[in-house]
Amino acid sequence: MMSPASPDFARAADQLRQEELGRLSRAIVPTVESLRLLHGPELRGLIVSMLERSGYEVQTAPDAGNLVTTKDGKKYLVAIAPTNNSASIPVRDVMRLHSAVIEANAAEGFFVTTRGFTRDAEAYAATAPLKLMDGRKLVISIKRSMEGITMPDTYRAMCRQCGDTVSHRLDLAEACKCSNGHVVAPTIAKATLTGQRQEGGSLGSTYTEPRPYSRREVRAHNAKYESKKRKTKSKKRTTEASIDADPEFDADTSR
Ligand SMILES: [Zn+2]
Repeated sequence: MMSPASPDFARAADQLRQEELGRLSRAIVPTVESLRLLHGPELRGLIVSMLERSGYEVQTAPDAGNLVTTKDGKKYLVAIAPTNNSASIPVRDVMRLHSAVIEANAAEGFFVTTRGFTRDAEAYAATAPLKLMDGRKLVISIKRSMEGITMPDTYRAMCRQCGDTVSHRLDLAEACKCSNGHVVAPTIAKATLTGQRQEGGSLGSTYTEPRPYSRREVRAHNAKYESKKRKTKSKKRTTEASIDADPEFDADTSR
């Protein structure tokens, strides 16, 4: 922006950056943490893409309540928890989805949240035609649906001085030159993608995004969570909070 760039090229360059960012972010698996930063419509869009990649046909309008989907001639309802609520999903919400499944003559209902469920909700769903999907399971499902999709190594960027398009490598944060010899700096940092946010997301200019967790940290956390869950199960009734989530990842276990 400091160089005497043409405003037209600058605008086109920004637009190309947005397009490339969108293209790259659709090819990577998000973290639970990054999913929790999404706004309702973004999360819904992401879930719809995941379902479509997994062979479901999504029939609902983008603004309707539960998603109505079909696969192999069967109907499935998908409830998505509001993104602004950080509490665990209570049993009454799960029961409501059960009623909706019955009324819609659906085969099964999926309840999706980037957080967790209460034990009552889990116990209810275990004996009903319902599947509960918390943040961790959602990431796994998204990952599974993305099998075969490879992350591109390169992206395009436009020279802000002459409008020439160059190709940057994602693993190399190095400036390159356009065909007219102007320096074009990399426009996309790989870290932006791993702490992914969908395009159109506006978190406000004063908002500072927390550091995204690395794959290794997430795996370590999940392993800890699983072993804790096993222990809690064998010990039977310990505290509810410990099974719901690890405070490191989820500060909202109190209800
Ligand atoms: Zn140039």
